[in-house]
Amino acid sequence: MPETTLTAPAPGAVLTPDQISVEAVYFGVRVVTCEDGDPLLALGTHDRRRALAAWSRYAREVAGERLRDYLSLCAPNCAAPWCTRYGCRTAESVVEPIWAVFRAPDPTAGQDPESVWYVELADPETPGALPVMCV
Ligand SMILES: [Zn+2]
Repeated sequence: MPETTLTAPAPGAVLTPDQISVEAVYFGVRVVTCEDGDPLLALGTHDRRRALAAWSRYAREVAGERLRDYLSLCAPNCAAPWCTRYGCRTAESVVEPIWAVFRAPDPTAGQDPESVWYVELADPETPGALPVMCV
């Protein structure tokens, strides 16, 4: 079997999906959290159901919680005064499709070289941009 040589990407370089380290992969969806465990990202998809399925498994296995608790979603038939006025916090309302570029940290730009990547919002036309679902 040929040996794979991993070369570190240049500072600030756009990372390919294979170069983005993730915490888990469920149902083919790559799941990561940013600092402090929030926000939660699903890489490579704009499919809400796939992202929610992957996050649901992630919440159970990593946090030992149901996704509803992990994301502080409202219970069915929620009647909280704030919610009746402004709408409930649901999986539909908190999940957002975005495009993002993942880059290697650039210490000359003041970024922590120990970070595995930095993520930036992008347009679909941005070179290296990936579809990402974001909470
Ligand atoms: Zn509510």
